[in-house]
Amino acid sequence: MGELVVVGSVALDSVKTPFGAVEDALGGSATYFSYSASFFTKVRLVAVVGKDFSRDHLSRLEQRGVDLSGLQISEGQTFRWVGEYGYDLNEAHTLATHLNVFADFKPDLPQHYRSAPLIFLANIDPVLQREVLRQMKRPHLVALDTMNFWINGKRDALLSVLAEVDALVINDGEARMLTKEPNLIKAARTITSYGPKIVVIKRGEYGALMISNGRFFFTPAYPLESVFDPTGAGDTFAGGFMGMLAKSESLDEAALRRAIVYGSVMASFTVEDFSLNRLMRLEPEEIEARVQIFRDLVHFEI
Ligand code: AMP
Repeated sequence: MGELVVVGSVALDSVKTPFGAVEDALGGSATYFSYSASFFTKVRLVAVVGKDFSRDHLSRLEQRGVDLSGLQISEGQTFRWVGEYGYDLNEAHTLATHLNVFADFKPDLPQHYRSAPLIFLANIDPVLQREVLRQMKRPHLVALDTMNFWINGKRDALLSVLAEVDALVINDGEARMLTKEPNLIKAARTITSYGPKIVVIKRGEYGALMISNGRFFFTPAYPLESVFDPTGAGDTFAGGFMGMLAKSESLDEAALRRAIVYGSVMASFTVEDFSLNRLMRLEPEEIEARVQIFRDLVHFEI
């Protein structure tokens, strides 16, 4: 399909888990997403950082071939997120969200971004998501992620951008919160009535489910024994998912299912270390090896 545009947060995260803590580490939904997707396709990033953001962080993304011409560097502080996890690593507790330079961000997409066939509206203010979407010419696939902060804080703007997207990639708690529906199957169906015809619900260590054209598909998560920090798992998943779709010739059911498996495999690496540390050591052969293990995991004969 071709290249991929992403808008989302580029952040400095302070995160505590039962296994350690980091302060002002590289994070953000667009960062994890683009790093992950860069293993599969060309990624063009739209975001803003403050003057305090380190040049080293930018060069990490540049080394992966990520196009940063849509990244603005503004006066002020970079977006910061402070979060904590207990022993149930599936649930992040947000302690603070400092929008900083995102509060006044006016996205203006470089011309060469506007004709990309795929766009991912990663977790960020839905007003910005809609603004970026408006600047795109005619993408084949528009996908979106969001979180409790925006579901509670900007519900109307979120519902209005959702009506224009093809796919929603969201975690289980947020799918329940968005639909006010405890049953995930019903929640997925309800979301299709908001606009997206493809709904992917991530369930942390329990895997993911998808509904597309009324059909369900379920996968487990890669069976990891050591998880250090789940931050970014969802965005890394989305990067693998969209990256694989960008590489596919069509967006049929087989391509969507394959993309879910690659998304799950990419997320399994991120959670093995803090920040993007594990992704930065990742080799393409390791991705394929885990995909094979995944295939065995779900294979059975009748
Ligand atoms: P996840 O993949 O869901 O674990 O996303 C974690 C990333 O989301 C972190 O690196 C944060 O910087 C970023 N993040 C947290 N809260 C927000 C928010 N309200 N808007 C945008 N990005 C956020």
